[in-house]
Amino acid sequence: MPPRKAARKASRTKYVFITGGVVSSLGKGVASASIGRLLKARGLRVSMMKLDPYINVDPGTMNPFQHGEVYVTEDGAETDLDLGHYERFIDEDMSRANNATTGQIYHAVITKERRGDYLGATVQVIPHITGEIIARMHAVAQGPKPLDVILVEVGGTVGDIESLPYLEAIRQMGLELGRKNAAYIHLTLVPFIATAREVKTKPTQHSVKELREIGVQPDFLLCRSDRPLDKKVKEKIGLFCNVSKDDVFDVPDVDTVYELPLLLEREGLGKRLLAQLDLPSQDPDFTQWQSVVRKIKHPKGSVRIAIAGKYIEVRDSYKSIIESFIHAGAHHGIHVDLKWIEAEEFENDSAEELLGDCAGLLVPGGFGERGIEGKISAVKFARMSNLPFFGICLGMQAAVIEFARNMCGMARAHSTEFMPTTKYPVIDLMPEQRGVRQKGATMRLGSYPCFLTRGSLAHQAFRTDAITERHRHRFEVNNSFREKLEAGGLKCTGVWPGGDLVEIIELKNHPWFLAVQFHPELKSRLTHPHPLFRDFVGACMIQSGARPVEDVQKAALEPATQE
Ligand code: GLN
Repeated sequence: MPPRKAARKASRTKYVFITGGVVSSLGKGVASASIGRLLKARGLRVSMMKLDPYINVDPGTMNPFQHGEVYVTEDGAETDLDLGHYERFIDEDMSRANNATTGQIYHAVITKERRGDYLGATVQVIPHITGEIIARMHAVAQGPKPLDVILVEVGGTVGDIESLPYLEAIRQMGLELGRKNAAYIHLTLVPFIATAREVKTKPTQHSVKELREIGVQPDFLLCRSDRPLDKKVKEKIGLFCNVSKDDVFDVPDVDTVYELPLLLEREGLGKRLLAQLDLPSQDPDFTQWQSVVRKIKHPKGSVRIAIAGKYIEVRDSYKSIIESFIHAGAHHGIHVDLKWIEAEEFENDSAEELLGDCAGLLVPGGFGERGIEGKISAVKFARMSNLPFFGICLGMQAAVIEFARNMCGMARAHSTEFMPTTKYPVIDLMPEQRGVRQKGATMRLGSYPCFLTRGSLAHQAFRTDAITERHRHRFEVNNSFREKLEAGGLKCTGVWPGGDLVEIIELKNHPWFLAVQFHPELKSRLTHPHPLFRDFVGACMIQSGARPVEDVQKAALEPATQE
């Protein structure tokens, strides 16, 4: 089929384009995901896409301090953390196709140029780069499931040099789709100036002016403000920005991000957006969503859980873990109060001092040597003092190292990631990783199956024999030490049958000690919390004397026979 025809066929799917203005960090990802929820709540088939203006091919090679969490999809793409918001809000799996970066776009265009696809032509930003962006937006519509609406979030802020090709592409795309098949939403800031005791609309006016110069007229304005905007302000914004005052919405700060779709719905955005897209009006169903939000806002208690990580200054590095605790807390009707501890602190201060006021410890994933000894000390304390422990990826590797050193007589056992010459390399590179020199997208990534041992905590949590979970690592439990570790009392309760890799470990004679090689936080959703986070929080509640919901309490009180 010639490309034009393919594009026309795909265009039955409608598109919503979301741009950001004035400043970054307004929560564009959450706002976009919330708009997705407004449509999903009406039974529409929705997907989302993020266009990232950086030149890296993906964020996989970026430092968490730079970029925050790298979100891994089922199909193993390393993507922007906004895809995590999308999955959690619209409850649909994203894939490689749902995140495009400038690096990928240029890579594709240059590869085609070298192949001779443009033979004779001068390759330019317009139409070649913009054409590639448009092709990727169409590609989402051509995925396995038919879609009613795709929401496309343009990263960065209007005015950035880097985002210009994306803005041009969404302009062209809107033209191609036609008025009733596209909507443009602009998220801006309306700051309150204390000395003038007024909110100021000028930055929004300028941002929209800039957008209109490029040829994009927003249909809706979402104005981030720390206070509700009165009618007059909305009228003024509407007038200067050429937007109906009914399509100017204020987005105040919310107690929990999950409240945002409810708030936007109350303001009428769902209805207006449906009208703009010429979709039949339908009432949304927010029953379940609302009930979870109520639980988040009105917890019946609180439980304190420590996170011993190494990127804790940038909380976005642990975004999905934070959200998973919110989901699990809501399930139990409590608030999970996270105590962030820099892993290195365990190297100077006593674990007892640091963890004394906590009902559980989570050691998350990470890379590099800094902080590893601290993590190992923290795990040791949790193991010895019966403190509920949950290890994720590097957290599991730290637990295995600790167990080898202190319970199996393997002094100075280590991971070859940190000590290549160790006598006891209990954590080692996967064989297929040995020759790998390239850093981008070369880890074990994405979804793999895992078989669970009946009677284990993991099996009790999942209530099934086989699961799939997402991965992002190079190192693994070294099978040549498995027997010795198991003889010492370590239980390998989850295994990937394909490669005989240890996926889950547990301990005998401990109330709740479980660590996983995969990243469960990537699959937790608001209305169905991840079973392991749910049960870990339940175990922490028991530790602190509170009562988790019944099923978890029962499971945790009757330690399984794991023979
Ligand atoms: N650095 C470890 C590895 O590569 C752990 C990775 C992680 O925690 N995501 O295996």
